[in-house]
Amino acid sequence: MTTVTSETTLNEVAHLEPEEMLVWAYETHGPRAGIVTSFQNTGCVMIDMAHRVAPDMRILTIDTLRLHSETYELIEEVEARYGVQIERFQPDPERLEQMIGQHGEFLFFDNKVKQEYCCQVRKVEPNRRALETLDVWITGLRRDQSPARSNVARAEPVHRDDRELVRLCPLADWNEDQVNAYIAAHNVPMNKLYAEGYSSIGCEICSTPILPTEEKRAGRWRWFNQLEEEHSKECGIHTEGGGI
Ligand code: SF4
Repeated sequence: MTTVTSETTLNEVAHLEPEEMLVWAYETHGPRAGIVTSFQNTGCVMIDMAHRVAPDMRILTIDTLRLHSETYELIEEVEARYGVQIERFQPDPERLEQMIGQHGEFLFFDNKVKQEYCCQVRKVEPNRRALETLDVWITGLRRDQSPARSNVARAEPVHRDDRELVRLCPLADWNEDQVNAYIAAHNVPMNKLYAEGYSSIGCEICSTPILPTEEKRAGRWRWFNQLEEEHSKECGIHTEGGGI
């Protein structure tokens, strides 16, 4: 293991092993560091790692109020397994009421603009509130998840709301086999939807199972698959302010 100190530079952090990155984040930033996860496999691996090396690390999630029941069950399972309290950030009720009142619950079917509006209200805004509590944002982004994520850095400064914070992606260079091998070796709880062919899991309806020949995020907003925009498979959490 590398010796990690508060003097370790971000460039050095980028070359640490995943567990060492988590230790650095917790030891240098304490409660201003946290894993923000949607409880997909990479996030669950990081929670397991943190439990071993930085057990008091905060774990935050964005509850859009439209997650699959399997995801809500997994959140409770993780809390019980690791003895942690997951911090849930939900949409602002007034913003939600206004959006649904004007466009209906299923506005995301209408067009890309309305889908992005829904993601803004249900995901991006709560995520922003979560990030206000952090200086080190730890995510489960991996380069093999989509072309838009192929250059994601393991450690880099990102800007949100005129503020700079550090985003860590400790498993950015892992592939699915490595993630699955860790899950099997450590008996990590995982979302039951993977067994049903899901590869990327977000909200109900907006995420669907994929065929073996499809890209990993092809099941997201499947009705927009004919679009070729660079970020047509992103909700905005990682694309706003740049940095993906
Ligand atoms: S994934 Fe779908 S339901 Fe969830 S916030 Fe985005 S558009 Fe809305």
